[in-house]
Amino acid sequence: MPTVRRSVALLGATGSIGSQTLDVLRREPEMFELVALSGGEQLNELADITNEFHVTRVGVISDSHRDALAALVDSSVEIVVGEDGLSELAASADVVVNAVLGFAGLPVTLSALRAGKRLALANKESLIAAAPLVAKVRATPGASMLPVDSEHCAIHQCLASSPGEPGYPDVRRLLLTASGGPFRGWSLDQLRGATKADALNHPTWSMGAKITIDSSTLMNKGLEVLEASAFFGINVDRVEVVVHPQSIVHSMVEYVDGSVLAQLSRPDMRLPIAYCLGMPVRLDHGWGAIDFTKDVELTFEAPDPKSFPALALAYEASRLGGAAPAWLSAANEVAVAAFLADQISWCEIIDVVARVMDEYVADPLDSLQDLVANDATARARAHGILEQ
Ligand code: NAD
Ligand code: MG
Repeated sequence: MPTVRRSVALLGATGSIGSQTLDVLRREPEMFELVALSGGEQLNELADITNEFHVTRVGVISDSHRDALAALVDSSVEIVVGEDGLSELAASADVVVNAVLGFAGLPVTLSALRAGKRLALANKESLIAAAPLVAKVRATPGASMLPVDSEHCAIHQCLASSPGEPGYPDVRRLLLTASGGPFRGWSLDQLRGATKADALNHPTWSMGAKITIDSSTLMNKGLEVLEASAFFGINVDRVEVVVHPQSIVHSMVEYVDGSVLAQLSRPDMRLPIAYCLGMPVRLDHGWGAIDFTKDVELTFEAPDPKSFPALALAYEASRLGGAAPAWLSAANEVAVAAFLADQISWCEIIDVVARVMDEYVADPLDSLQDLVANDATARARAHGILEQ
């Protein structure tokens, strides 16, 4: 057991990644101390976590949320509000888990790295939208970024056998695996009748609603291609997607000599979360361990570009560069929210994103102000299309 005790800030504590992180922390009270939390609408849950872990600083999204939470927790708890509050909390612990949903997680990513902390990144949207800005703050002395996303965590582990020169010249390609989601093998005709319940019924992972819908359109994998490129500094031309329905091989790295390294486990997000928290120590809980004597089937197939155009949109956004990935992610957030609110059909999600991307005009993305303006423009275009 390691002797170093780490303080942890868990932002987005009430969600799917948040609750699985709490499960890891509960098992390692000697190793980790939870010092800061944040959440969105689920105030009762946020209060329960605050009280259970005796957390002293909590972030909420508005003044009214602050007042409501204050009634549920000890008066000594400091409650901070909004983006500034999130930024403050993200600079306040040794390890910062960014489990916030969507572009709202941006202040956490930037602030943790700027403060020289270890960032355990689940919130892929912030890295995808802000890749050039993240690259700058990532160079802060002491700062490090580890991937909670299972595919990127797998690649991180496989890359340990590489000398790690910039751009990884000994790596031929990264192979991101995709479960294929609930609609793998569906025809276009079948997809036109896809319901919300169908789309939320993921075959291998239990996750928050937004990423579950992204998995059904394969936009999640498209976003992960962009995430891999930004995370490892490898052009998307060297990132490929392979469908692997069992979700046992979490991703692979092919080296120039033809060797392929893979990371395998049963699907359990506590494994990548614990990897990021404990690094370089692996926590001894056997999450996702495989019994190879029992019925382990591993199959692979190519993704279907006709039924799942989201993947091509993501590659195109990367080639366009600048603010295009931010537009893609913002338009997708708006379209998925509209689908979850029963305003559009499943097929219309990626239609809306494609129509927004048709309107993208090259913008280099030099500053945070540029990014925030581009995010707002892409959202406004998406809302405009939804209102038509
Ligand atoms: P979730 O919806 O279950 O939880 C999101 C958390 O963020 C909640 O605590 C919510 O209260 C908070 N939140 C939502 N909107 C907010 C806002 N505007 N401001 C501040 N806080 C807000 O989502 P999740 O499935 O846990 O996913 C979180 C992130 O992790 C996403 O970026 C997702 O892509 C990524 N991720 C999730 C999984 C998974 O297994 N769930 C796997 C890989 C990556
Ligand atoms: Mg993933």
